[in-house]
Amino acid sequence: MKWSFKIGSILGIPVKVHATFLLLLVLIFFAGSSLVGTGGMQGVLFVVLVFASVVFHELSHSMVARYYGINVVDITLLPIGGVARMASPPDRPVQEILIAIAGPAASLFLAFCLWFIADIFGSDVTISDFSVKSSLLAELTAVNLVLALFNLIPAFPMDGGRVLRGVLGLYLSPFMATRIAVGVGQGFAIVLFFLGFFYMNLFMILIALFVYLGAEAEERQMGIMVSLGGATAQAAMISDVDTLNPGQTIGEAAERFCRGFQGDFPVLDGSTLVGLVTREILTETLHKGGPSVVVSEVMIKDFPTALEQTSLIDVLQKMQDSGSKTVPILSAGKLKGLITLEQIGRYNMLCSGYSCDFLQTSKT
Ligand SMILES: [Zn+2]
Repeated sequence: MKWSFKIGSILGIPVKVHATFLLLLVLIFFAGSSLVGTGGMQGVLFVVLVFASVVFHELSHSMVARYYGINVVDITLLPIGGVARMASPPDRPVQEILIAIAGPAASLFLAFCLWFIADIFGSDVTISDFSVKSSLLAELTAVNLVLALFNLIPAFPMDGGRVLRGVLGLYLSPFMATRIAVGVGQGFAIVLFFLGFFYMNLFMILIALFVYLGAEAEERQMGIMVSLGGATAQAAMISDVDTLNPGQTIGEAAERFCRGFQGDFPVLDGSTLVGLVTREILTETLHKGGPSVVVSEVMIKDFPTALEQTSLIDVLQKMQDSGSKTVPILSAGKLKGLITLEQIGRYNMLCSGYSCDFLQTSKT
């Protein structure tokens, strides 16, 4: 996520905070008394403890995911809560159910522990230099209880929505399960929106919008994951790649660009891949330097590559991580094909809601 800063890592998972979260801390420090009851350090401490609870919640999802061999990319804290990013979706519905339920279960457990501690210590508890009244513990207990219950609402993007999809997925295809779970989530959001309107509650209206958009994003994401799921780079790559050599000019590249379908060109020195000329570089160089600029002077040398057997989801991940919209596909160090974001879009269009397994085997 852009504008996120790593603050450390827990159990090998990077924990990041979004810039807006730091702004929230500053806001609480100066104007906290009107927002969370107390301002200054006391208010900041409260918010930090709330988000420590969120990290605990996300970490629980992450641990179960990791148990099933799913890599957790990072945990990001936003002012509205936390997000644990997984490298791939769960293989089976049962895994999704258990990963989703782990978060609310952890929050419920934490709420119980906090309630227990508050009960033992009574009125005053001291945490390091700050005198923390038991009311703060009681508030934290309530926060964790709300975190557990709110997330159990069966609507995307809450955990309850994932549990619902997992349960439906036991009987239906992933695509149908997602459709229905998204529908339930959006129905819930619409009811909440009108309730918020009726009671003039801005908070409810905001939550309704958040749920509605979250459900929609989930459907899009799932649609892509389902149609790309199982496919390898080989199935969607352009195999008849038009290439350049380092000594050619941008003018020659521009000619190929206009007369063919390809927009980005791998640069080969003999049979070795040495660079890449993207459509952006091509256009910019032509406009600024003219057609006589030599390819080797402007080609990029730092770009992601993948193998034929790399999954399409991983290729998409490489694109998102590097910001590159083109990934050359190699086999034994030799260029075999090219995958562009456009190409993934084409594959998605063809195979959305249909099994394109036959494409996997039709090439040698
Ligand atoms: Zn959760």
